[in-house]
Amino acid sequence: MKIILLGAPGAGKGTQAEVISGHLGIPTISTGNCLREAVRTGSPLGIKAKEDMDRGRLVPDEVVIGVVKDRIAMDDCKKGYILDGFPRTVAQAQALDAMGVEIDRVIDLEVADETIKRRLSGRRVCEGCGASYHLDYKAPKREGICDLCGKALVIRKDDEPATVQDRLNVYHQQTEPVKAYYSAKGVLRQVEGQEKVEDTSALVLKALEA
Ligand code: ADP
Ligand code: ZN
Repeated sequence: MKIILLGAPGAGKGTQAEVISGHLGIPTISTGNCLREAVRTGSPLGIKAKEDMDRGRLVPDEVVIGVVKDRIAMDDCKKGYILDGFPRTVAQAQALDAMGVEIDRVIDLEVADETIKRRLSGRRVCEGCGASYHLDYKAPKREGICDLCGKALVIRKDDEPATVQDRLNVYHQQTEPVKAYYSAKGVLRQVEGQEKVEDTSALVLKALEA
C-alpha cells in the first residue's frame, strides 16, 4: 500500500506514520527527517536545504523530488511505503504521478492552527540522533535527555514561535491545494486530529480501510 500523510506542521504526521508503519510493515519516508539528516552531516543536499528549513520555507521542489525518487527506488519500498511530509506542493504531487507512482490513500490530519501553535511549542528533538519528543505527549524518561542516545534535547529552530506562523502560512498557501488534487482522484480521507494520539490512530487505521 502507498500512503500519503497530509497535514499542517505539527499535526502529528510523524507519530501516525510510526503507527501505520508498525501496523502494515512498510517503511516511512519523511522528507523532513531526510533533509535534517543531510543538514547534520553537512552533505551538498543539506547545504542547499538548511536556510529554507531554518526560516520555515519549503525547500525547492526539484530538491525534495530527487530525495523521494531515490528513496522509493530502494528494496524495502517494494511492498509500499508511507510518505510523511511529501508532497507539500501540487507540483510535487504531479511529480509522483510522472514517476508512475499510484497512491492508494491520502490521509489528511485536520488540526486547528491554534492547537498546532500550542503543540509545536512543546516539541523537542535530539541533537544527536534526531528523535522527536513532546513535553506533554511524549516526554523523555529523563528531562532534556534523549532516551535512545543520551544526547541533549533542543527546540528545533523552525519550531520557534515566529517561524511557526510562517510555516502555517506556507502550509495554507502551498500545501492545502494538494488536498483538492487527491480529492479529485477519490483517495483523500480526512481525519480530525484528536487530543489523544491513540484515538487519532484508531481513526487513521479505519480511514485506510474505508
Ligand atoms: P513539519 O513539522 O513542518 O511537518 P518536517 O519535518 O516535515 O516538518 O519538515 C521540516 C522542513 O523541511 C520544512 O519546513 C521544509 O523546509 C522542509 N521540507 C520537508 N518536506 C518538504 C517538502 N516535501 N517540500 C519542501 N520542503 C520540505
Ligand atoms: Zn538521540
